[in-house]
Amino acid sequence: MKNLLAKAAETHSLSKEELIAVLNDDTCMDELLQTADAIRQKYVGDEIHLRGLIEFSNFCKNNCLYCGLRRDNKKLERYRIDIPTIISLAEYAKNMGLKTVVLQSGEDMHFTAERMVEIIKGIKSLGLALTLSIGEKSTEEYEAYRKAGADRYLIRIETTDKKLYQDNDPDMSWENRVRCMNDLKSQGYELGSGCLVGLPEQTIESLADDILFFKEMNCDMIGIGPFIPHPETPLKDAKGGTLDLSLKVMALTRLILPDINIPATTAMEALAPDGQARALCGGANVIMPNITLTDYRKHYQLYPGKTTTGYTPAESLNKVINKIESLGRTVGKGCGRSKKWLKEQQE
Ligand code: SAH
Ligand code: SF4
Repeated sequence: MKNLLAKAAETHSLSKEELIAVLNDDTCMDELLQTADAIRQKYVGDEIHLRGLIEFSNFCKNNCLYCGLRRDNKKLERYRIDIPTIISLAEYAKNMGLKTVVLQSGEDMHFTAERMVEIIKGIKSLGLALTLSIGEKSTEEYEAYRKAGADRYLIRIETTDKKLYQDNDPDMSWENRVRCMNDLKSQGYELGSGCLVGLPEQTIESLADDILFFKEMNCDMIGIGPFIPHPETPLKDAKGGTLDLSLKVMALTRLILPDINIPATTAMEALAPDGQARALCGGANVIMPNITLTDYRKHYQLYPGKTTTGYTPAESLNKVINKIESLGRTVGKGCGRSKKWLKEQQE
């Protein structure tokens, strides 16, 4: 195992079989995280970049089996934040010293391309970097958002196992998800993707495929989180993913894609109070403090146990900054573009 980790640290390339061997080995956890931490430091440094997350609508036309926002969850109280308030939250983020905001929502048809362009322009006029995470759109819509100033886009592939994807994302198609990713990359966005860890029937082999897929798709950011069963979904009785396996997938992703951005995800924190701290010491270099208004947070329930519920934006930000400082790391000063993306722009 030592040899495999040394090889990964040096060549940033492992075969599917080698990835599977690491994922299956329960004795190498500490060493894997330490190796990923060293590679993180070598390629992207000690700064941790903050992204202010605004969850602006929990309406969704889709019905993903794992997600609490799925359209068939009739128990969920739905909300939309209006456009001036969304922009004022971004302004608030700026005043708190944040350089990037992430707009996330379900696939809410109320937010037409026209409305999104208005929001994007409003936020870009504040001089912030802007990431969108609003699901599958047409090539033209992505183009319009990019033209209006959007810099980055997060769209997880969720799983590269097509059957598993089809089973969990009814009415959606894996091929269309990949089409979205290709569109975004070719339009000059910094492309963020990622996967869920621990979906029912998901195999270690397919997680190895996920890591290889991130490389093949030339992603600039990868977010990995455990699947956490939500009580109002068909997967409510599923076992869910573990923090350790999620951390392993994340650390291996750092070894294979050394110069990308990797967030310590909120879902990791939901499983353990030190989930994000462990991620930050195992390859992660980004964290997304939640700046959604306190009253709305409890309704943006992708999964239960989100530790940001109930706090104000300032409290969330302070908690994150304290965590970073307690680890001896520093808060990123710039907007924290992916080093890989920046290198590609110069070529
Ligand atoms: N609607 C957009 C963005 C919001 S969902 C989209 O689907 O792309 C953001 C992410 O939440 C999804 O990509 C999924 O990976 C994650 N998610 C949804 N349900 C989850 C659950 N039960 N446990 C952990 N993560 C979940
Ligand atoms: Fe909607 Fe995204 Fe949840 Fe799927 S994962 S139901 S697309 S919010």
